[in-house]
Amino acid sequence: MGKYQDFYRRSIEDRDAFWAEQAQFIHWEKAPELICDYSNPPFVKWFKGGLTNLCYNAVDRHAAKRPDAPALIYVSTETGEEKTYSYGELQREVERMAAIYRRLGVEKGDRVLIYMPMIPQAAFAMLACVRIGAIHSVVFGGFAAASLATRIDDAQPKLVVTAEAGMRNGNVIPYKHLLDEACRLAQFPPEKVLIVDRGLDPNFARVEGRDLDYATLRDEVGEARVPVEWVDATHPSYILYTSGTTGKPKGVQRDTGGYAVALASSMKHIFCGGEGETMFCTSDIGWVVGHGYIIYGPLLAGMATVMYEGTPLRPDPGIWWRIVEKYRVNVMFSAPTAVRVLKKQDPSYMKRDLSSLKHLFLAGEPLDETTHRWIHEALGVPVIDNYWQTESGWPILALCRGVQEDLPIKYGSPGLPVYGYDLHVYREDGTECGPNEKGIVGIVPPLPPGCLATVWGQDERFVSTYFSLFREPLVYSTADWGIKDENGYLTILGRIDDVINVAGHRLGTREIEEAIQANPAIAEVAVVGVHDEVKGQVPVAFTVVKDPSRIATREARRALEEEVKKTVDELLGAIARPHRVYFVQGLPKTRSGKMLRRSLQALAEGRDPGDLPTIEDAHTLEMVAEAIRES
Ligand code: AMP
Repeated sequence: MGKYQDFYRRSIEDRDAFWAEQAQFIHWEKAPELICDYSNPPFVKWFKGGLTNLCYNAVDRHAAKRPDAPALIYVSTETGEEKTYSYGELQREVERMAAIYRRLGVEKGDRVLIYMPMIPQAAFAMLACVRIGAIHSVVFGGFAAASLATRIDDAQPKLVVTAEAGMRNGNVIPYKHLLDEACRLAQFPPEKVLIVDRGLDPNFARVEGRDLDYATLRDEVGEARVPVEWVDATHPSYILYTSGTTGKPKGVQRDTGGYAVALASSMKHIFCGGEGETMFCTSDIGWVVGHGYIIYGPLLAGMATVMYEGTPLRPDPGIWWRIVEKYRVNVMFSAPTAVRVLKKQDPSYMKRDLSSLKHLFLAGEPLDETTHRWIHEALGVPVIDNYWQTESGWPILALCRGVQEDLPIKYGSPGLPVYGYDLHVYREDGTECGPNEKGIVGIVPPLPPGCLATVWGQDERFVSTYFSLFREPLVYSTADWGIKDENGYLTILGRIDDVINVAGHRLGTREIEEAIQANPAIAEVAVVGVHDEVKGQVPVAFTVVKDPSRIATREARRALEEEVKKTVDELLGAIARPHRVYFVQGLPKTRSGKMLRRSLQALAEGRDPGDLPTIEDAHTLEMVAEAIRES
């Protein structure tokens, strides 16, 4: 393991010199004065005094050198569109979008919320923000009005960029009315809404004086040039909301210089991608992986990036592999859930010329050994599991094959700590675990470049959420259980909190509980994550109704179950929809009122609920078990 071990050790022991070298991957308009300012722990300012720009590094510098090289390959199996933008064309489109922003009064530091399907204009919208120093906040298109409203109120955007509709599985999904509803619910609705009219929903409503048409403004600004705004390395590039243990999502705030350096360096050392090559990341721009490895990472590296609107199964399960073949994809990045879905299909769909592919990377949720082995054999290329979080912005655990090609894969493990992360496994008293001993995965600050700088507008929440696990030592808690073997390989064993992971996406059970409580029939609710063959976990709700006569028959229970699911769809979006809603007489709690979630989870998974703290609870749990049997 020698070469990588040396590389890693230098990143920790000779930190500033190491990151000064990595900083060479990007252009600095003014070089940093200080590599790492850690004078105010746990806050860190990377590359202090440096001036740079994310859009310049991702677009302009390649457009100047290789204007005709492919930059953005848009493939939609929903609308049938397919279009490649060269770096030159991408720059023109981003400048047009930036000119529109300027016209609408968007200034450096203003927030722009982006609520869009996977279309090129979403990429233009993100890049145009960072070009002028505005801060984007992309909200996943699958989120519904109430989720969107919470994010609007927290970010208080001057402008929202949206499309009138998206498409999924051949069906038109209207976006615009969800946004209108969110604006109605929000305390701080945006002044302006810019709409990309795709012609999918001819009947969408426009709000006079607020709503603007993208195509019209794009024509009006014409060939306007918008120079990049050089910003401090510490200037926020974006906010991305993620679920936590409270009902209120946290705005993960990312800087500019550290993020650019971390991503650019990861493209070489982890993803083994270089200029002129092609990357296909199947995530969505609404997630952290999409920010890093659909948009910024590959473009920083001068690669072409595939932006795919569609599912892995439509028009048939061969679609991803046809894209790999057609565009000679070199680096692919996806999630274990998608692979488990594909594993169920006819293997002949994979019989394509996949010889361009060097690696497949998978992240977002545990990768089980069976799935890992299957996809490895089917593709014949190394499949690299990597572990990270919205907060980290880039991998925390991986195999850095760009540093040392022969780092061995260990099935069931996302590999070794990535350079820059001083990672350890801790006992609950703050002492360090020995090899093969289960504990909490923590990172000794300063967090490396690219990680969250703070929680948007809530510095104190940043400290209390992430750095207060132990009184001593000061450690960033990932809130994941893990185990480190004698060779340094980590295995992740699930969350220590009430956050669940559905198909690689993080959901807070609190948020779902709050949504269910909005249904007037429900008195009390507990949501837990339950094992699922394909998605890893799915949310399951246990509810107590206000009026028991509403659930007297099985039909009535089924009808109310559907109603509760609909409430969640409407408030949070289908992604958070409970797989099952059980109606119980009471919820099991400890004497101090803490919900016995583990017991509920065990019952829903058909397991023994384990030791019970009080007799009353044993009775309540029996009733819960009966409710599950009767449903
Ligand atoms: P998110 O911020 O939505 O990306 O969720 C991050 C969480 O997903 C982590 O805290 C882990 O619980 C889980 N996770 C991400 N990647 C992996 C992986 N490769 N293996 C196991 N769990 C993972």
